[in-house]
Amino acid sequence: MGVEILRNYIGGEWVASTTENFLEVRNPALDEVIARVPLSTPEEVDRAVAAARSAFETWRRLPVQARARYLLRLRDLVEQHFDDLARTIVQEHGKTLEEARGEMQRTLENIEAAAGMFASLMGYHTPQIADGIDEECILEPVGVFCCIAPFNFPAMIPSWFFPYALVAGNTYIVKPSEICPITQTRLFELIQQAGFPPGVINLVHGGKEVVDALLAHPGIAGVSFVGSTPVAKYVYATATAHGKRAQCHGGAKNALVVMPDADLERTVPAILSSAFGSAGQRCLAGSLAIAVGEIHRPLAEALVEGASRIRVGYGLEEGVQMGPVVSRKALERIHRYIEIGLQEEADLLLDGRGIQVPGYPKGYFIGPTIFDRVEPSMAIACEEIFGPVLGIIPARDLEEALTIINRSSYGNAASLFTRDGKAAREFKLRVRAGNVGINIGVAAPIAPYPFAGQKSSFFGDLHGQGMDTLYFFTDRKVVITRWF
Ligand code: NAD
Repeated sequence: MGVEILRNYIGGEWVASTTENFLEVRNPALDEVIARVPLSTPEEVDRAVAAARSAFETWRRLPVQARARYLLRLRDLVEQHFDDLARTIVQEHGKTLEEARGEMQRTLENIEAAAGMFASLMGYHTPQIADGIDEECILEPVGVFCCIAPFNFPAMIPSWFFPYALVAGNTYIVKPSEICPITQTRLFELIQQAGFPPGVINLVHGGKEVVDALLAHPGIAGVSFVGSTPVAKYVYATATAHGKRAQCHGGAKNALVVMPDADLERTVPAILSSAFGSAGQRCLAGSLAIAVGEIHRPLAEALVEGASRIRVGYGLEEGVQMGPVVSRKALERIHRYIEIGLQEEADLLLDGRGIQVPGYPKGYFIGPTIFDRVEPSMAIACEEIFGPVLGIIPARDLEEALTIINRSSYGNAASLFTRDGKAAREFKLRVRAGNVGINIGVAAPIAPYPFAGQKSSFFGDLHGQGMDTLYFFTDRKVVITRWF
């Protein structure tokens, strides 16, 4: 069987791109080509926008309950194909099957939450604001929205946006990551089966050229972006310069603070899973452990001991706890950062480079890697490595830990491990991060809560997920009425 050539889904039909430029999609555990993804053209973006615009007028007039029902149909189909989708994620991304199932669960929850959101789309009304005069606020759909997605959650991240946009009456275009584009293609097969009217939701594969065409297109009302900070900044600046609303989630460098009174038996597994889950390729991954006071040594020892026991391998195999990283390029970047850490004279306690995984000699594997005595000013403490590399920073007290975190240019997530409620309260109120964990290593908000990054982890004001989407995807229209 030949390698699948991925197609776009525009106006309710699967269409082959006319481009001559394709990228290979590889299974990172096997280093085998599993699909080819087109770098679609600006003309194909035009066609998708035209399809979405012409679907908009009918879709917006459909009763909100009817729009929600399409999402419920999609939800059931996703549940029926849950395991197939999870396996596809493993094949193109490399995470373990259990991690991929977790991702699918969150995808389902977002579709469910959005379908339930129809109850919140009701606006408000004040009778008699003056004699014989009433005032009301109506929530209206805006038009065509699009999402530009990263590689690391190929199913879940578009679901932070498109279901909410659709239930509010907008139409949509998804531009998946060109590194992991297969899962969205499979999801769109289910979208087709769910019977959404043609043009309501479209899929355009591609890279920067497609992004630029979307950002400049007069037919696009708003953009939801998730990816690295430099691109998030660029997308935010370009989209807003073209008069669009934008919400752009960027990169991260998340710290996990361990107080001297922390329960190490519970804290260590939480840190290991935060740092090394999905091979460190999560925007909520803890990549720094700030060890306060005398906990430093026992913590470092326990982390190294636990990390050395993590079983690295092909994510589809039973018992594997950590898969490969997504690409050879990513592997090389992570190796470079380990070199930088050595040049910066951090102590390399555990070196994951060069590990052999029996049966998978060509996979992009790297084992858990731990640096100790990391200084907050080092590049390995400031820059996003996006791989299974954890740095330990010793600190005197909570005050110093907070200073280190709050000076970081990123503000996606931060956690505190302690038995002291007062310290936890202090941390919760003063830390400058949008997703905060107390004795939790990955503070991942469920669907009804916003995904609330701060500083250069987020550009915009209304976030993905939760009630923020209600406002991002609607215009509020105020109507004041007097009948004579
Ligand atoms: P990326 O920034 O390389 O790519 C993201 C998207 O932008 C892709 O669809 C890509 O095609 C497009 N793109 C890339 N370069 C572009 C350019 N120059 N101009 C226009 N478009 C461009 O990110 P990635 O490597 O796919 O994903 C990993 C990053 O995403 C990490 O930094 C991670 O922290 C971040 N992330 C953040 C969150 C969050 O919620 N804050 C969630 C997941 C991932």
